[in-house]
Amino acid sequence: MHNLFNTLQKFDLGGGRQGSFYSLPALEKAGVGPVSQLPVSIRLVLESVLRNCDGKKVSESNVRALANWKPVETRTAEIPFIVARIVLQDFTGVPLLVDLAAMRSAVQRLGKNPKIIEPLVPVDLVVDHSVQVDFAGTADALQKNLDMEFRRNRERYQFLKWGMQAFDTFKVVPPGIGIVHQVNLEYLAKGVLSAPSTLNSQSSTIFYPDTLVGTDSHTTMINGLGIVGWGVGGIEAEAGMLGQPVYFLTPDVVGVHLAGSLKEGVTATDLALTVTEMLRKAKVVGKFIEFFGPGAAALPVVDRATIANMAPEYGATMGFFPIDAECVNYLRATGRSEELCRTYENYYCAQGLFGIPKKGDIAYSQELELDLGAVVSSVAGPKRPQDRIELPKMKDAFMKAMTRSVMDNGFGKRYEELYVTARVNTARKAHPPVDHSYGHRKLGVEPGESEMRDQHPAPCASEQVPAAAFRAGQSEIRHGSVLIAAITSCTNTSNPSVMLAAGLLAKKAVEHGLSVNPVVKTSLAPGSRVVSDYLDRTGLQLYLDQLGFNLVGYGCTTCIGNSGPLPAAVEDAISKYDLVAASVLSGNRNFEARVHQSIKANFLMSPPLVVAFALAGRVDIDLSRDPIGTGKHGRPVYLRELWPSLREIRDLMQTALQPDVYRRLFKDFAAQNPRWNEIPASTGNVYGWDRRSTYIQEPPFFEQFQMQAGEIREIKGARALAIFGDSVTTDHISPAGSIKKTSPAGKYLIENGVMAEDFNSYGSRRGNDRVMTRGTFANVRIKNLMVPGVEGGVTRYFGSRVRENADATGEKSGAFTSAVTGEVMPIYDAAMKYRTAGVPLVVIAGQEYGTGSSRDWAAKGTNLLGVKAVVAQSFERIHRSNLVGMGVLPLQFKEGTPAQSLKLDGTETYDILGLGASLKPQQDLTLKITRQDGGVEEVPVRCRIDTPIEIDYYQHGGILPFVLRQLMAKA
Ligand code: SF4
Repeated sequence: MHNLFNTLQKFDLGGGRQGSFYSLPALEKAGVGPVSQLPVSIRLVLESVLRNCDGKKVSESNVRALANWKPVETRTAEIPFIVARIVLQDFTGVPLLVDLAAMRSAVQRLGKNPKIIEPLVPVDLVVDHSVQVDFAGTADALQKNLDMEFRRNRERYQFLKWGMQAFDTFKVVPPGIGIVHQVNLEYLAKGVLSAPSTLNSQSSTIFYPDTLVGTDSHTTMINGLGIVGWGVGGIEAEAGMLGQPVYFLTPDVVGVHLAGSLKEGVTATDLALTVTEMLRKAKVVGKFIEFFGPGAAALPVVDRATIANMAPEYGATMGFFPIDAECVNYLRATGRSEELCRTYENYYCAQGLFGIPKKGDIAYSQELELDLGAVVSSVAGPKRPQDRIELPKMKDAFMKAMTRSVMDNGFGKRYEELYVTARVNTARKAHPPVDHSYGHRKLGVEPGESEMRDQHPAPCASEQVPAAAFRAGQSEIRHGSVLIAAITSCTNTSNPSVMLAAGLLAKKAVEHGLSVNPVVKTSLAPGSRVVSDYLDRTGLQLYLDQLGFNLVGYGCTTCIGNSGPLPAAVEDAISKYDLVAASVLSGNRNFEARVHQSIKANFLMSPPLVVAFALAGRVDIDLSRDPIGTGKHGRPVYLRELWPSLREIRDLMQTALQPDVYRRLFKDFAAQNPRWNEIPASTGNVYGWDRRSTYIQEPPFFEQFQMQAGEIREIKGARALAIFGDSVTTDHISPAGSIKKTSPAGKYLIENGVMAEDFNSYGSRRGNDRVMTRGTFANVRIKNLMVPGVEGGVTRYFGSRVRENADATGEKSGAFTSAVTGEVMPIYDAAMKYRTAGVPLVVIAGQEYGTGSSRDWAAKGTNLLGVKAVVAQSFERIHRSNLVGMGVLPLQFKEGTPAQSLKLDGTETYDILGLGASLKPQQDLTLKITRQDGGVEEVPVRCRIDTPIEIDYYQHGGILPFVLRQLMAKA
């Protein structure tokens, strides 16, 4: 602890007790900067910078710089942000735990105590990404999906259980409990944290704001509770876990002034979609958003969280709501202790941070205005979350999208292709009579026989065909048919008002005698069991069940694309007629193939609208005018008759927010989860790696580990492993989806006794470097320009032997004595041949290399293939830092040197000159290209190691060896 600028102060904890804190008002009083005028989000980061100022990782100049943040200036300074805690989901969390386990193994081999490897901040992993909707629409769907999940993921879960007992600060929320961000909001987040501390032998408890990073982009949901946090890549999270700062460029802060209030019938989802559209247009990428004004103050925390969750969709780093009495109310209503609530309020009052700012209080980089009263019922799609459509314009928008070009986010259909209809048989269980007492409906869409009809002059797509018109067991599907309707995603399931609205709408629909066509795969996957508790207590789950929205799991499901299979007959029909079928979901992302491989049009909307569109069975409908279906007396029923009033929802809200329920459901997870208990866990501080496992393997990052870091040296005689054009995404580099049987990863799995049907996805195999390295650059859509006209992870391998004699520097030159072969082969196979030959590799790319969601395996796999440098025209921010974090050199062509103008085809060899012990951030280097005919070209490139700490990371071969050496030196 320190007392820089006399900022270590006391505040009232209540009950006559006092706590210590680093006071922002005191920092201002010391004349360091105009702190009280800074955006609240900047002040919360400043507190971390001040508290963690140690003169090494965080310096006094960092404090001064941030305390003097200006609304508008050129941003060059990086902020070292040490977060209070970390949250992980299982897809990204398992590989992180694998790395920690590998570090412990390395420490043990070096004869030290493996316990020196321990996360320095609390880490919570929530297992939420592995459940799939294999079963839906039946009362036993939840149990069956859980069974499948545990069967598929047993090895991963065993490993997580080892981690739970091996690390003191690593906790796991087991499967079947909820979704990471909702669990964070309802349970993990404390708002204010404390830790014992000492200064000059005086002990005290220091209090500080709850801040975090998470390995999921929608970590921002917690911004709705006034907590600073966002999604980062696994490598950054790993660094954060091990006490390293998360570095980010000083941001602009856009203030969004909210005025007025939402009108009757308008939901928080409508507001979130409106904000997304507005902020996308305002180009807020990389910026903080701070909502303020009376409209913000009047929103309940659950509505704020829905808006904050979608920050990645509007492109911002955060969508932050400041702290106020509403936050205290939420903490209290969700079962947090009275003591915590009091400390929380007192702490933020002492910091001058309690209350939502009003106009003029803070000078933002830019101010935007939104009148909540102008928000209308909306959906977004069919391909992007920012493409909002007002509900009455839905029919029109869908029909326009059908004929718009693919380039223009349409489906590129010709007019004469619009009216194709296929008839499919879907086996259907008996539809029980509506039972108002209880009884889960046994209605399911199961694989049935396909009986497709050729193109026929079907009813005009704009003509109303009520769902009830379909005959049981035989359905017509066509462009615009809704085939998946999912109440999914923490975005909305954390918000009782929209969940209750869905239940109320279902109730009225059942009472009107409406039903959902069995061809629609309906599902309900809340982000916590609290939702089931209040839907059961209000009796609304019963009606959702009647419409097929039976519970399928507590996890991410359709939101992340785990929507499970559609009946084979339906898939066949879609494929045969190239149908633009639709999904409707309460999620946050909808790009093509995210929700389901076969569903092209995906619309985001509130849970009640999901139920409404499921009832309608199609998206080419104007629900403000057209009947949603035909009721029990043959009368058309309209959406307005089903839509619940604000009052009806409010009346039930008290049922939803019951502190005791939260306390009961968020305790002792293991005891409530027999399947989890049945999984045997190994014990001990060091993991007993099982070489037969195809899910968990010790990665080779520390194989050659020595205490002395290597020297930075020039790279000579490298070969191009691949040459790419623009916009290569992290999913191109490291796909998350299915594994092809014929791919190197598929062959590896088959060789290791895994049947193709048990391959699971790359995402679930991120704990096995053997699979992931083989999967690097293995996306079926990637285009390596070295093999023109071919899609997929192949390259040309040039040469098979290197000159036997190394040159005087000990470097193998990479000049080949044998004739080049240019043999086409999988990228992984070529990389291994080059490795055997001792040839370093480079990747050449165009603009925006590494865009898409942050994915640490995109950098890890690049490293493990033997790639020493990636030379691109520009890099996505996080992928660039991930490359450095894995010891791969990012180099950027200077402006004016487009990669294409160099006419590279992979026959060249490459030297990177100017690298040495005196390397500086952003230093200019030379890329020397030696062509096959002996011609030489020297191209200036900028080293995109951007900060001094990154030089250290690079020299040490990445963040992990860097941290390991530091910890070993202290041990
Ligand atoms: S529900 Fe969707 S947004 Fe929420 S954590 Fe899961 S995948 Fe991310």
